[in-house]
Amino acid sequence: MITNAELAETLFQLAESHPAGDLRLALLRTAYAVFDHPRELTGSRRLPETAALEVLPALAMLRSCRTPDALSAAAHRLAGPNHLRANPSRQGFLTAAEVERAITLPGAPNHRHIRGAAHWHTRASDGAGTLEAMARACVRRGASWAVVADHTRGLACVNGLDAEGVAMQARSVRAWNSRHGDDLRLVQGLEAEILEDGRLDLPRSARPGVLLIAAVHTGLAERRDQTGRLVRAIEEPAVWALAHPRGRLFARRSGIRANWEVVFGAAAAAGVLIEINGFPRRQDLDPALLGLARDVGCRFLLASDAHHTRHLAFEETAVALAVQGGVPASAIVNFEPLDRLASARPDLELP
Ligand SMILES: [Zn+2]
Ligand SMILES: [Zn+2]
Repeated sequence: MITNAELAETLFQLAESHPAGDLRLALLRTAYAVFDHPRELTGSRRLPETAALEVLPALAMLRSCRTPDALSAAAHRLAGPNHLRANPSRQGFLTAAEVERAITLPGAPNHRHIRGAAHWHTRASDGAGTLEAMARACVRRGASWAVVADHTRGLACVNGLDAEGVAMQARSVRAWNSRHGDDLRLVQGLEAEILEDGRLDLPRSARPGVLLIAAVHTGLAERRDQTGRLVRAIEEPAVWALAHPRGRLFARRSGIRANWEVVFGAAAAAGVLIEINGFPRRQDLDPALLGLARDVGCRFLLASDAHHTRHLAFEETAVALAVQGGVPASAIVNFEPLDRLASARPDLELP
């Protein structure tokens, strides 16, 4: 049987083998629709709703294949003289159907037991929703605590928060907690930039009282080794978690190179959490590296990296990555009550 992963990859390769134009675009859209479809399409009569008319004959031909060899032969027939090429920056990502399967495996951490909804954005930086709308959506998902983590105003985010923006958001967080703190305790975090030399774009004086998530957003396509940059960032004062450590992006880039054993060793020694970013185009870290991080004793933070209320469900993709990487719920802070986080971080002003 052909999986959505195989079918989507074939459609991506076919799209890329065509010159820019309507057909290429239609094939690409269909590839993404298959990739993001929550059920395996084999055996189902339904097609992704977004499949354009001009793609339907090709899609029907590919879906009728029963084996990967037959699929490859059909793809070559459809491509004609054009070359089909795999793209390494698409490898190692879970399709939505694979996520659904992983989170329902026996023994998988139950995503319905997640207490903390961490690392999401609001309109104050590049998110679509207000703090209140995002917090209410966290309540609806059953969270009892949540960490907003808007960008700081670094090189990579001109819409990020400056000192005044951070102070304003702190007031909004306090206002929420005084009104709705029994439903959801909100904690202010910040997604700070890791600069070229491994320092952060946030002065030390601005760090107490927030959960600081350090993230690389620059120099991601470079092939040089960036172990030193990440280790320096991990050792910066008051860092809580290392966000999307590789900085990979589906179909765009494979992310930075580093000696990951050294990076994870530094994180474990410093008590810095390793983030499992469930944003479907990020999926960072991937299961192989998560297994390595687990083996050197890291603890983990599940992140939806939501920029919209409906993105909060991406924490399920993070759970699927944890399942695939063999990371147990006991190593993931989102399954713990907020008080336990507070006891690990005495500098934090928690509500
Ligand atoms: Zn980020
Ligand atoms: Zn983010």
